[in-house]
Amino acid sequence: MNILVINCGSSSLKFQVIDASTEKLLAKGLCERIGGAGSGITYENVVKGTGKIETITPLPDHKQAVSLVLQSISDPENGVVKSLDEIGAVGHRIVHGGEKFTSSVIINDEVIEAIKECSDLAPLHNPANLIGVAACQALMPGTPMVAVFDTAFHQTMPEKAYMYALPLKYYEKYRVRRYGFHGTSHSFVSKKVAEVVGKPYDSLKTIVCHLGNGASISAVNHGKCVDTSMGLTPLEGLIMGTRSGDLDPAIIEFIANKENLTTSEVVNILNKKSGVYALSGELSSDFRDLEDGYKKGNKKAQLAVDAFCYNVAKYVGAYAAAMNGVDVIAFTAGIGENSPFVREKVLAYFGYLGIDVDEAANATRGKDIRISTPDSKVAVYVIPTNEELAIARETFALCK
Ligand code: AMP
Repeated sequence: MNILVINCGSSSLKFQVIDASTEKLLAKGLCERIGGAGSGITYENVVKGTGKIETITPLPDHKQAVSLVLQSISDPENGVVKSLDEIGAVGHRIVHGGEKFTSSVIINDEVIEAIKECSDLAPLHNPANLIGVAACQALMPGTPMVAVFDTAFHQTMPEKAYMYALPLKYYEKYRVRRYGFHGTSHSFVSKKVAEVVGKPYDSLKTIVCHLGNGASISAVNHGKCVDTSMGLTPLEGLIMGTRSGDLDPAIIEFIANKENLTTSEVVNILNKKSGVYALSGELSSDFRDLEDGYKKGNKKAQLAVDAFCYNVAKYVGAYAAAMNGVDVIAFTAGIGENSPFVREKVLAYFGYLGIDVDEAANATRGKDIRISTPDSKVAVYVIPTNEELAIARETFALCK
């Protein structure tokens, strides 16, 4: 069965077509600047090896974008299906499922209402995700749609890990608690680790470090997520590209008063102008630039990278304590998969865990690989994440 995977943001839409029986990627692409000037689509037929085909065209709304995606994948020359009947189901990435969704579900009116109810927890994401669902439903009315939630994997966390020490009424009235994000990736990588290590999923204590522009860590104890670094929103936890991660909450009022800003303006700064971007003196949020700056002796770039790695190490230490040990640490996402430099700096903190880095393995890219020496007490792996494949698998499981 061919699955169309849709990840719909406020002005962009990423998509892939995956043959779920063989797990082969058939086509992928991205619509950008939807509703704005210079909008267009980048499309690639992976089977035919067309490379990226870019088309600039007006995309006034998401329905138009989905329509163009459907035209592209069924195009007689470069499409991957003869007609849309060959798309068996659509899997949608939905950012926030609140406490209602502990796993993926087939989308119906009730599910859409429940996702809408979670929208005030993810006001930038859930409404955009739902626009993608509505556009697909309008254009492919008979095709089953599945919602795959970023938060679902973390719903196994115990109360002691997800409750904030705030008046209970905020949880009772507004469900203010830790939810965690990147769940599809943490789930995919922790399962893949077990496969690669050759041990049952429910026998391992794994720490997954999803280090991308957004970054989060999770503790997966015997197949269940028991803690994760992101919170009510994806702002908490690690220092990220432009997000501050953890800080003293009193800083928000302090800066608001000093700079005559509203709390939302300060939170916007914490989301968009902070993180390694801020620490590097606004040099960049991209670790390629920061590593370059680091190696050239740029002190602010060095501070940004050092603070990031220290922060990752602190979380790994905390999660090793939470699980009373750790068998495997896995690195994934843009930085986790591609930066031997960052991995080495993080792992340098773990002599006490008996970890030794295999330098040649650590220099390898793009595949599942063990980067700790064979006699290391804790195994360390790089596991490329594949959120789209995870969404296709979930969708297939519900629709086959
Ligand atoms: P993601 O959010 O998972 O797509 O990760 C994107 C981030 O990965 C970029 O902003 C970079 O910071 C980082 N990244 C990608 N490629 C490399 C690389 N070759 N070396 C270091 N960092 C990289």
